[in-house]
Amino acid sequence: MLRFFPEKDKNLARRILRDGMCFSVEDREAVNALRCFEELGILTSLERVYVKCSNENDPDFSTPGVGNCIGEISFHGNNEYYCPECGRPIGAIEQKQRFLEYRVSLNIDGIAQYIKNALQALASTEVVEQVSLFAFRVAIRNGYSLRVVIPNYADARNQSIGLFFAEPALYIISSPIYETVKTVLAVCRREVRAGW
Ligand SMILES: [Zn+2]
Repeated sequence: MLRFFPEKDKNLARRILRDGMCFSVEDREAVNALRCFEELGILTSLERVYVKCSNENDPDFSTPGVGNCIGEISFHGNNEYYCPECGRPIGAIEQKQRFLEYRVSLNIDGIAQYIKNALQALASTEVVEQVSLFAFRVAIRNGYSLRVVIPNYADARNQSIGLFFAEPALYIISSPIYETVKTVLAVCRREVRAGW
């Protein structure tokens, strides 16, 4: 069961679980956590190799105009490279120091699968049935059942399932960390109030 509930530092997890977040390969703690979440199917990571426009370790550092530019130039198939910040052409890129980083890409379907697996791994769970995308019915060992919904991604019928019917429901908030997480629930509640 612990496989689905790794003990990772909360702040570290919050830092990593962002679409587009980048980490240097030197950041071992972040990379280890990244690998852990990747194995759980929650995200994938892409490697990016790049050079820095202005880097004192590079032979072109003393070239006039390099200055303190913060530009980073990714390697790609094209042979011509330009700094995206200052626009200067980057010659002899192969002589510049290379950096490697990982870029996070959250896997929404993988998150749904992970939640299903995690629910199934709970000691009190009999069986987990996926009733719709991002909606599950969990049969509990005491004979009861529970609806589990991820409202940000579930279809409209399942988003409000616990608000209209007697069946106990559990909402799991899974949304981009920089968005307001309870928007869907707030909308559902407003609709229920208006309807009554
Ligand atoms: Zn530059």
